[in-house]
Amino acid sequence: YLYGSSRLNSLGVNLADPAEREPLLAKMALAAQRRWVGGAIVNGDLHEARGREVRNPSNLDQIIGVVSEADETLVEKALAAAVPAQVTWDATPASERAEILECAADLYEERMAELIAYCVREGGRTIPDSISEVREAVDFLRYYADRARNEFGGGVRMPGPTGESNELKLRGRGVFCCISPWNFPLAIFTGQIAAALAAGNSVLAKPAEQTPLIATRAVQMLLEAGVPPDVLHLLPGDGATVGARIVADPRVAGVAFTGSTETAKSIHRSLANREGAIPVLIAETGGQNAMIVDSSALPEQVVLDVVQSSYNSAGQRCSALRALYVQDEIADRVAELLAGYMEELSIGDPMLLTTDVGPVIDKPSRDMLRAHAEKIGRKARWSHACKLRPEHERGTFFAPMAVEIESLSLLAGEVFGPIVHLIRYGAHQIDKVIDAVNATGFGLTLGVHTRVDATARYIASRVRAGNVYVNRNMIGAVVGVQPFGGRGLSGTGPKAGGPYYLHRFATEQTVTVNT
Ligand code: GLU
Repeated sequence: YLYGSSRLNSLGVNLADPAEREPLLAKMALAAQRRWVGGAIVNGDLHEARGREVRNPSNLDQIIGVVSEADETLVEKALAAAVPAQVTWDATPASERAEILECAADLYEERMAELIAYCVREGGRTIPDSISEVREAVDFLRYYADRARNEFGGGVRMPGPTGESNELKLRGRGVFCCISPWNFPLAIFTGQIAAALAAGNSVLAKPAEQTPLIATRAVQMLLEAGVPPDVLHLLPGDGATVGARIVADPRVAGVAFTGSTETAKSIHRSLANREGAIPVLIAETGGQNAMIVDSSALPEQVVLDVVQSSYNSAGQRCSALRALYVQDEIADRVAELLAGYMEELSIGDPMLLTTDVGPVIDKPSRDMLRAHAEKIGRKARWSHACKLRPEHERGTFFAPMAVEIESLSLLAGEVFGPIVHLIRYGAHQIDKVIDAVNATGFGLTLGVHTRVDATARYIASRVRAGNVYVNRNMIGAVVGVQPFGGRGLSGTGPKAGGPYYLHRFATEQTVTVNT
């Protein structure tokens, strides 16, 4: 295997089998009864002094736990410990670092039910989504462990003249700040940390404000697996204060960030204005993702894939479909089938296995979606929305929606939720469509539905997208299988879950010896 992992991807749970499903649901229910505690973890100590309540997005009356956020003293303490600890950690053989990460992966799998309960109740994710999320977190841990063992173990011998030996080695950069999003509160959170640790860095992790409880639980498991307590610190809090404070510190050698393009740019500016060495930024940001469907496509399959791509995770994936281009001949049929399928979606509490679409993360997100729906609705040629019931008012639900518009230029930026915009195009307009998609400046995912191979190849070669999916849905990239990440406004690269990811977390050293 050149780029593969030595182990298979995590298997997850077969929900169709009652022997697997029932114990999982029972354990989840048990975990859900507890009141969860989150807070800064510095040098292995959980600080739970001043608690802020964390609520369940599907029922805001329900307090699921409390979190105490990091203050200046804790940030300083974490940095003071992480700087010297990194030197020792980097000198630890890569195989030992890998073993610790693999041990964490086993712990995550063992405690999958508990982690799923956190994803569901704190992140509003459905049970199938949460299972995929735990699997992805496990895959990241094992994949980066494997890459580190292979590439950070010994150096690469380079050619040289007689009497000289040359060796190229990968080393950690220093202290990494990992800033993760709420939409994958376990997988992306774990993936960033695993990569930074595998490459020999120490880590200050700043989870999203909305999901600090699962982050706390995850760090506890990483420490239990053997990550030294001075190497990994958790600093929950507000991005504008805690996040900005860490990023601005000259002791931080690099930042791994997943979130909005706007925030990535502000981190970039802060890093550029800092004293000291030039730090590295790895940013994975948003998308304005399109699917292009030509008249040869099968409308029934298209609609299945559109629903998955637009409404899974309540549309809160950066990979999600936003702009659905359909060729005139089949556009009416696709719209009709889509509206019919939307009627079948069950919207509600994600603790129920029957739920297809859970809440969006919080009130600001819901309000932004409502405002967009109203505005775009006025320009719509056609639209269809799922219906909400009065009990949905208890949580931050937003009804999945499809709306036909004239042109992609009507969208100001990324609309992060379950709204898909349908745009028709004519037989000879494919280049116009491609130009419009490229003109957004984003470049994350692209879907193509066609039964003409040459068309698929042509579109894939011209659209500047990081991940192209032909005749299937366009979400759920698998670690080590579909390396994930975009370009332009969508991020800096390298791709998460791909063979080059760890390199950006590392610095290279060439050792030349005159023998
Ligand atoms: N990797 C995820 C996917 O392929 C998306 C990650 C994100 O939303 O940030 O769907």
